[in-house]
Amino acid sequence: MPSTARSSTTFKAVIPFNRQLSIPDNLELVTKAIKSGRSAGDGPYTAKCEELLSSLLNVPRVLMTTSCTHALEMAGLLLDLRPGDEVIVPSFTFVSTANAFALRGVKVVFCDVRKDTLNLDETHLSELITPATKAVVPVHYAGVGCEMDAINELAAQHGVTMIEDNAHGLFGRYQGKNLGTFGALATQSFHETKNFSCGEGGALLINDESLVERAEIIREKGTNRSRFFRGQVDKYTWVDIGSSYVMSDILAALLYGQLLERDRVQARRRAIWERYYRELRDWAGANDVRLPYIPEHCEQAYHMFYLVMPDLPTRTRFIEHMLSNGVAAVFHYLPLHLSEYGRRWGAKVGDCPVTEDLSDRLVRLPLFYNLAEEERDKIVAAAHDFDF
Ligand SMILES: *Cc1c(COP(=O)(O)O)cnc(C)c1O
Repeated sequence: MPSTARSSTTFKAVIPFNRQLSIPDNLELVTKAIKSGRSAGDGPYTAKCEELLSSLLNVPRVLMTTSCTHALEMAGLLLDLRPGDEVIVPSFTFVSTANAFALRGVKVVFCDVRKDTLNLDETHLSELITPATKAVVPVHYAGVGCEMDAINELAAQHGVTMIEDNAHGLFGRYQGKNLGTFGALATQSFHETKNFSCGEGGALLINDESLVERAEIIREKGTNRSRFFRGQVDKYTWVDIGSSYVMSDILAALLYGQLLERDRVQARRRAIWERYYRELRDWAGANDVRLPYIPEHCEQAYHMFYLVMPDLPTRTRFIEHMLSNGVAAVFHYLPLHLSEYGRRWGAKVGDCPVTEDLSDRLVRLPLFYNLAEEERDKIVAAAHDFDF
């Protein structure tokens, strides 16, 4: 990993790949949440986050969770997945997209991604569905929508439940419809590295209303405490399996303040993304570098700006070059089907050729709210300065 001090004599500040979103006014909300003495989960700020997300996205019920990983685990519990079942995930994703389901003892099946968007390849998906397939988990990579019409149709045709891992895609749209509203369930992440962040946090978006009551129970340690708080039962008790997936109200306060500033945050990210695109387009064209592709029918969430380099050695040199110019540019996911744990389901080299190829060539540039104007200048200049 890049370090800010390479040695004591040649100290050089490096523009980090990410700085967590920080809005000073939010501290007031956090202080209020702490002082209220009501800092456990499901307090007033948790409710505010849930109501805001629910109305902005048009999702019937949103539950704040401790992480996106936990929201995905809740999805696995809600669908009653068990050994013998199969769940299809892209190979090019974060480990939690697969692990949350591996925890239930299912067979994880890895699908390749499209060359243009690096999103789940619907043609490969259609070959992977079997009678044992219970769920498919599209990931909207970089906040650009997957081909939801095709994936939806395949899932419906085969009676497969769709769960969107929307960790990158909050406020993105496909054909004018919000990402996170296509699956029976969808998950969000508010980890430090995401557009909006309370350190560690997530949400489960529930579009299939028949799953709401049990989701509340699973999130509350298997109890019907949520109904108790609403006065629907006079005492609460253990009614099902579950765990501790409720976000603290202190973190919800931090997140709520950020969500209120969503337009400002997204506009800033968009400006940075568009500047990179504008100022690197000719350079990329001349040097066999590919920039992100955003289909006409997708409004992206401005989560990430990546470059696809001509080959692995060039990418390695590019990362070194950027670092020596004070910029932390980083690669991304390694193919899950070839990972030590992923191989247990029998995958081998060549199963997901696009993932294998692009994973070696992709590199990401810093993109965060507090990226200063001079830092942006420096990043673009350093890229232009690279000797191919
Ligand atoms: C960040 C991320 C996760 C995990 O989110 P946590 O909130 O850290 O659990 C899952 N899937 C994808 C695609 C992610 O980018």
